[in-house]
Amino acid sequence: MQLQGWGRFPDIAANIIEPVSLESAQQLFKSRQGKPSTIPRGMGRSYGDSALAAEVISSRFLDGFISLDEENHSIRCGSGVTMEDILKVVIPRGYFIHVLPGTQYVSLGGAIAADIHGKNHHKVGSFCRYVSALDLMLANGEIKHCSATENPELFMATCGGMGLTGVIIDATISLKKVSSVSIKKKSIAAENLLECMDHIEKNDASEYSVAWIDCLAKREKLGRSIVHLAEHCEEGLSQYNPRKNLSIPFSMPSIFLNNYSVGIFNTVRYNLLKRKNDFSIVNYKPYFFPLDRVRNWNRLYGTQGFLQYQFVIPLVSAKQGVSEILKKVSESGKGPPLSVLKKLGEGNENYLSFPLNGYSLAMDFKNEKNLFPLLSELDEIVLAHGGRLYLAKDARMSEDVFKKSYVNWEKFQAIKSQVDPHNVFASLQSSRLGLT
Ligand SMILES: Cc1cc2nc3c(=O)[nH]c(=O)nc-3n(C[C@H](O)[C@H](O)[C@H](O)COP(=O)(O)OP(=O)(O)OC[C@H]3O[C@@H](n4cnc5c(N)ncnc54)[C@H](O)[C@@H]3O)c2cc1C
Repeated sequence: MQLQGWGRFPDIAANIIEPVSLESAQQLFKSRQGKPSTIPRGMGRSYGDSALAAEVISSRFLDGFISLDEENHSIRCGSGVTMEDILKVVIPRGYFIHVLPGTQYVSLGGAIAADIHGKNHHKVGSFCRYVSALDLMLANGEIKHCSATENPELFMATCGGMGLTGVIIDATISLKKVSSVSIKKKSIAAENLLECMDHIEKNDASEYSVAWIDCLAKREKLGRSIVHLAEHCEEGLSQYNPRKNLSIPFSMPSIFLNNYSVGIFNTVRYNLLKRKNDFSIVNYKPYFFPLDRVRNWNRLYGTQGFLQYQFVIPLVSAKQGVSEILKKVSESGKGPPLSVLKKLGEGNENYLSFPLNGYSLAMDFKNEKNLFPLLSELDEIVLAHGGRLYLAKDARMSEDVFKKSYVNWEKFQAIKSQVDPHNVFASLQSSRLGLT
């Protein structure tokens, strides 16, 4: 069947393996000895080609809960279980997940493989900090138990390793005790990027923080934005909140999203939010997963799909680097409607994890003529400032850019060649980046 990532680019014909059990999956890998290459796939919410290959192995069969340890505040479940599934189980018991992405439709395996970060990275780090152990099926079908103390190098290569060390079968994650899943939110309007970053820095103590940036604003308004700060309420909801979603039934003509419509949308949104410069209490879902409200919103970009360009630039040159990028983007006339700025805290030791202490900006671009040359120019700015691009969003980064910015790639590859010398696990992305 034809298969894509969330950005719907690229699009390839792929054979999807759906094992019926762990034993049958192990048998498959034991018997085939090498080719063809395959890559694990969870919910397909990575934007680019990290979960794409001519053959993919779906983790959907790993959808069981194994145990909830209320004494140690942890849960063990199959890697195909989603954030939504986990929240349904843990919220009524007074728990929450430490690190959540912008959609709840992400599998546990995908969250570990991308070592995802949330709106609280500056305070709590990324997802894998809360993974105490995992079971990994290797290329020969063997299962290895990995943690910070058992097979620690394989653990560091698998956390953030984009599925290239094997199939994560299950994992134990620690949970956060919360008094409520109602969220107290404050929105602050900022006239430009410097003001925006000032608000974020001044509110570093805030549990969650994220800024929505208008990428079409120019000159003195460059980086015009709304900063959203939030905390869990002391009291309020402690229930899972089911919500009906709207849906985009088919691909929209890409003309639907043009500079004119996007510009109006951004200005109206900015002015509306500017007026609400104070606290409000909201349920956790609209705060954490605003885009989940519209299922298949990725169809809005038309049949050619879109690319998300997410980079991080270290703190020391973040103001300069992010300004240069915003300037280039606003001058290009390809300004995205969605762009999200986050401050990230310290990185970790996992070889391919994305976060480092600095500012990360994520921008969606319709896949259209002359986009790739623009993105290559942005790559140069990111590299010049010592930054890197996020693998979970990437569909086009060059091997050169990858190897210059992910400085531990050779350490990763040394572990990979020990556990998977014949590259049984390989994706379109890993081949493009020269990892397989
Ligand atoms: C609307 C939206 C908002 C998002 N917001 C954020 C955000 O705020 N922060 C953030 O960090 N990310 C964010 N993401 C990206 C998303 O969290 C990651 O791409 C995540 O990896 C997707 O998980 P998945 O289950 O869909 O994995 P897939 O897309 O299916 O796979 C992603 C990678 O994980 C590997 N993988 C999947 N399952 C396994 C397994 N069982 N064993 C080994 N490897 C596996 C795949 O091989 C692939 O390399 C967002 C995505 C969307 C669509």
